Amino acid sequence: MELLKQRILRDGRALSERVLLVDSFLNHQVDPKLMRAVGGAFAERFRDAGITKVVTIEASGIAPAVMAAEALDVPMVIMKKSVSSILREGIIQTEVFSFTKNQTYLLTLKSDFLTGADSVLLIDDFLANGEAAFGAIRLIEKAGARVAAVGAVIAKAFQPGLSKLRAAGYPTVALAAVRRMGDGFIEFEEDEK
Ligand code: 5GP
Repeated sequence: MELLKQRILRDGRALSERVLLVDSFLNHQVDPKLMRAVGGAFAERFRDAGITKVVTIEASGIAPAVMAAEALDVPMVIMKKSVSSILREGIIQTEVFSFTKNQTYLLTLKSDFLTGADSVLLIDDFLANGEAAFGAIRLIEKAGARVAAVGAVIAKAFQPGLSKLRAAGYPTVALAAVRRMGDGFIEFEEDEK
């Protein structure tokens, strides 16, 4: 997605060869117009995939996911990384290792919000090693729903998540796939058709 790649080039910063900072429009401050375009791009790809719900992981997946859900005219479900005292019953959980926090957390879903009738588009901000995406997929499938597709706003194609998801049979789209980055440069893979 050209608009997104231009924005990453303008405002993103490679903190190292492995970590990309995009907190001025995606992870801390959010650009709603860009998120609407991102949501629209996901919806366009998956318009005919029979999606009944968009699922994401809090917090940075929420903005792109809600825009995709609006464009597809379906609800959006947020998986929680911490459980509040009012969310104790009817929940399913799985352990996930966090790339950015370097620690494990319990990803949690209230099972009421996904059923065997659901076909899910899973959306997250970043795809790196795929730990978060595979954790979310475990919960979606545990709830009896089907993962129809996975969308990452940004994938770091030099890390294994993108190819692992595809190898496991999940149609996966990255709107911007970073091939390589480092001090002062960010390079992308060609857009997929
Ligand atoms: P994975 O589970 O695929 O290894 O990592 C995905 C999660 O880690 C994303 O939900 C995102 O929050 C975070 N993440 C991974 N790589 C980056 C990165 O380069 N920059 C930022 N801002 N977050 C990242």
